[in-house]
Amino acid sequence: MTNIVLASPRWYCAWVDRAIGMLDDILSAHGAPIYVNHEIVHNKFIVNYFERKGVIFSDDLESIPSWNIMVFSAHWVAPSFVKAAKDKWLKTLDASCPLVIKVHNEAKKFISEGYKIIYIWKKTHQEAIWVADNDLENIFVVGSKQEANELMFESGQKLALLNQTTLSVDDTKDLISYVQSLYPDIQLPGFSDICYATTNRQEAVKQLVAESDALIIVGSKTSSNSTKLCLIWERAGIPSLLIDTPDEIPDNFLDNIKTLWISSWASVPDNLVQDVITYLEARWAKFTKEIVTKQEKMIFPYKLDLQ
Ligand code: SF4
Repeated sequence: MTNIVLASPRWYCAWVDRAIGMLDDILSAHGAPIYVNHEIVHNKFIVNYFERKGVIFSDDLESIPSWNIMVFSAHWVAPSFVKAAKDKWLKTLDASCPLVIKVHNEAKKFISEGYKIIYIWKKTHQEAIWVADNDLENIFVVGSKQEANELMFESGQKLALLNQTTLSVDDTKDLISYVQSLYPDIQLPGFSDICYATTNRQEAVKQLVAESDALIIVGSKTSSNSTKLCLIWERAGIPSLLIDTPDEIPDNFLDNIKTLWISSWASVPDNLVQDVITYLEARWAKFTKEIVTKQEKMIFPYKLDLQ
């Protein structure tokens, strides 16, 4: 018999919850179609749910007829995209996470004070695309120590270090220390740029890594943050599995597993986690407890003011 332990916090962060609520409510108020740039959040289940209700996910403004409603996703949207949407007379609603915008505002402030920015990122993430939409002369992107070594600045140049909000806490700490060793005078933001939801979810799966035999993360493979949760365990030599639905669990996965730890990323509805537990309970596993490492009680209200 395998004992199942649930990690918490898991599932929606307050800003993902808000973005999903905004899209649901605007759909109820105005009806389909509603357009969304990129994906409202990085989860296949949520995207499919909204597609069935008539939401169209598209970054191709050319194909979207004027005067329709477009919601900007939680990951942020480039100012050039907002302007192009306005030029098409689209009515817009912004569901961007303000913690992402905070980093962009820090960058603007530093640049206005004569700094150049070293920005730690994961190249393919939507949130980091802002770099391409900004001041490329003053922002230098880095994803590894190798890339940090390749940077060159004039002597006396003021430097500031920022990073994407949803990176691996440990890897980012390591890279920040490395960049600091290269540029000891570099300015850091007052507070960590890694958002609270990323920190809390990574900490929650790290807590009992030594006491469990395997980990299941419920999340999509398109979500790099879900992959990072698995990576924490893989680095400790403990098997982990990233799944959207229970039918992706191999038949023999529970063999020799005494304690199984389950969690999910901030864009995953909790009923998907419950589906996995129900599936496993029908196969010689038993839910035993939930371990809460941090309470999250934030709720962010919103208005459906179309711009
Ligand atoms: S995971 Fe972090 S950055 Fe992404 S929406 Fe939630 S709080 Fe914002």
